[in-house]
Order: sequence, then structure tokens, then C-alpha cells
Amino acid sequence: MRLLLLLFPAMLLGCPASHRYPQLIRREASPAPVTIFRDVRVFTATDTSSLEHQDVRVENGRIVGLAPTGTDLTGARVIEGAGKTLVPGYVDFHVHLTGSPAPPWAVAWPDEDHNGRALLASGITSAMDVGGELEKLKALWKRQAEPSWLGPRFWYSGQIISLKDGYPTSMVKILYPWPASALADQRFSGPVTNPLEAVAAVDWRMHNGAHHLKLAIASVPLNAQTMPPDIVSAAVKRAHEKGAKAVAHVDTAVHALRAARAGIDALMHGIHLGELTVADAQELKAAGVVVSPTLVVFDRAEALVQFRFAPTEMEKRLYPESFLTPFSPDVARTKTLDPQLMEWLGKLQADRPKRLAAAKTLYDAGVPILVGSDGAGSIGCLAGGAFLDELRLLSEAGIPNADVLRGATVLPARFIAGANADFGTIEPTKRADLVLLDGDPLTDITATSRIVTVMQGGVVIEKVE
Ligand SMILES: [Zn+2]
Repeated sequence: MRLLLLLFPAMLLGCPASHRYPQLIRREASPAPVTIFRDVRVFTATDTSSLEHQDVRVENGRIVGLAPTGTDLTGARVIEGAGKTLVPGYVDFHVHLTGSPAPPWAVAWPDEDHNGRALLASGITSAMDVGGELEKLKALWKRQAEPSWLGPRFWYSGQIISLKDGYPTSMVKILYPWPASALADQRFSGPVTNPLEAVAAVDWRMHNGAHHLKLAIASVPLNAQTMPPDIVSAAVKRAHEKGAKAVAHVDTAVHALRAARAGIDALMHGIHLGELTVADAQELKAAGVVVSPTLVVFDRAEALVQFRFAPTEMEKRLYPESFLTPFSPDVARTKTLDPQLMEWLGKLQADRPKRLAAAKTLYDAGVPILVGSDGAGSIGCLAGGAFLDELRLLSEAGIPNADVLRGATVLPARFIAGANADFGTIEPTKRADLVLLDGDPLTDITATSRIVTVMQGGVVIEKVE
């Protein structure tokens, strides 16, 4: 019966393509007890500068120290770093490990193992999951202790707490035919109708090991109802009582301020519709929120419907051709989306300059900008590739590369694990989560994609051809 329930939506949508995902990576068979990255430029992420010609020593999974090059190499495995830059392992502030970025006309069952591998192959050694099936994530979280999990260390929220019939239900309904829509909705959202239900929703997630809570306060399509302030406040208050942070999916400045006034800790997707004034940005700064603009989400959706979606070279390695073909202009041209969704996408396209400006206005107001990709969650946001694209887009928005990199490392690490986070920086005693890049990302943001070596907890993650 269960199988039938799963197959039924698949039949309605046409048979989902079966994808053979590439292995991409493996852990090195016997990690060296001591590794030295020799003569390397180091961006420690503790400030906005980098150190030239350093030897970085890693022992038993931890960073032991940095010193001007010329240190004793006896007994160490040496990784040559000349002309390269060592940065902390990336932290993706917004992923959906149990999701799939497939287009609506080529639905694919999520493959959390491939999502994990694609993220780690892209240098993402830690990630925050902000929406997915609680039970599945709970089980996956336990698997992190096992060798079978090849992916970022992660923290999860479970289903997004949403207003009944509001976003994301309102979008899923028009994106997929029933019952696929009902199935997707159940996996990603947890609808509530009043503050008491919101409190219960928080409690259920926390009881099942959630590390943070996610709310949705957005209108997709444009006339969808949004979560009212009393429900937002009740959920955030309960999360804080339980010692957890709360993040919200927002779209406009009005919704961002509603969340901030309720005490939200982070805003996902920035202000991507309409204007953000300097006064609004200052209020968000005063409220102490951090913002993750996820500019890539909107660029990818727009590219798809404008028939110019083009996966990056990296993404062509991360995903099989069978998965990427349905994104191609030739296929996309033959498909139609719901008019309400197209109206929303049209508004998104028109507001692109405002969206980039909003990210810069927030940055200028002193609001921490954290890098999140919606990897494997939003259509076209291919796990790993979307994150690397987001770094480029934040740089395009005018945020200095050093701060883009801090937003991809130390800032999300501290959000997740507090001021004493043991990852996110290159300092003695921290976990040896490291990415070696070809070039200097402070002068050329594209260097962030030229990944030479990924190390997670002192173990080199080898590429599998
Ligand atoms: Zn998302």
C-alpha cells in the first residue's frame, strides 16, 4: 500500500527519470596523523586580511598552528600551497538535504546521499538544513557518526512551520499536480492556524532533536496569505524558551520587519521583492538579526523560465546529464508553468536590481550577511554549485570578498555553534575543516570555485573520477 501511495504521484507526473548519481568523492583510506599545508596564503576568517607564506600544521583532525613557511616537515604529509589560498571549510547556511532541485516537469526523488556528496565535493564541510522531513533528518543526523555518510556535518529544523494554506503549501499546490503536491507539502511544511498550534509545532520538532526552527512568512503566489504577527511571536518565543534559534523565510521588507520585531534570529532569502530602505536596514541591524540573501535562488528560477539555464562546469561534474537535461532551454521551452507562478517570477525578475541593492544596504548597515544556497531545495539550486554561485553573486552585489568569505565560514559557524564554535576559522585547536583554493579569493571571487583540496576533520576528501 505504501509503495502504491508513492507510485501514484509518480504515475501522474509521468515516470520520474531514474538518475545514476556519480560517487564524486571518498575519504582517503589512511589519513596522515600530521599534515602540513606548506607555503600557503591563509584566510583565517578571524578578520578580513590574509597571511602570506604560511605553514599550517594539522594533527589528529585539528589545526595545531600557523607559522611563516620553513617549519620542520619531518614526519608530516606535505601539501604544497604555493600560489594557493587555504580557507576554512565552507558552511552553507541554507540547504535541504532531503530535497531535490529538479524542475517541476522532471520530478526526481530526493537522494540525500548524493546531496551530501555534492556539497562536500564543493568544499562545504558544514551546513544548516532549514526544512525537510523531521524523521528522515533525525535518522540522517545519526548516520553522521558512520563512515557511510559522506557529506557536511549538519544541523536541522524539520518541517517549516507555516500558515495553513500559506507558503510553501500555496506554492507547492500550483507547482505540482495532486497528489504529488500533497506529498511534497507534507515533507516540507508543518501548517498551523493559531499561536497554540505554533507552540506545539516547536515542541514536536525540539522533542525530535531539531537544532533550530524555521518559519515561513512570505507570499507565493503574490496573493497568498502570510503568517500573522501573533503566530510568528508565539513560535519564536517558544523556540527561545527551548534554547533554540529561529529563522524565517521572508520576501518583502514588511515581512522581514514582522519577523525581526518578533525576535527572529535570521532572515532567509533577504529582501527579494520590493524596496528595502536604509531605515528598515537600520532597524534590522538594531534587532540583531543576520540575513542570508540566497540571490542564487532567484537567478536560477529566472534563468529557467527565460530559457537560459546553464549549469556551471562544476555542476556538470556533480550531476549526471540525465538530471541536467530537463533544465535545458530546449526542454524548458516546451513546458508551461501556472500563470500565478509566472506572475511572481515576473516580479522577481523586475526586482533583481533592488534585491542586490538590498543585500548591499543591509551590509552597509552592519547586518551580518551569511551565505546560503538553498542547495537541493529550490528549483535549479544544485547542491554545492549553487553555493559557489552565491559567493559570486554577493560579490557582484558589492560586498567585499573578505566579508563574503566570512559569511561563508565564521559567521554561520558562530550562528550555529556560538562564539566558541570549533569550526569556521583557521586557528589552533579548531577542527581541520579546510579548503585549498587555486588563486586568491580576496582579489578574485571565482577562485572560491577552484577547489584543489577539501579536508574535513583532518581527513582529505579525494575526488573519484
Ligand atoms: Zn530553502
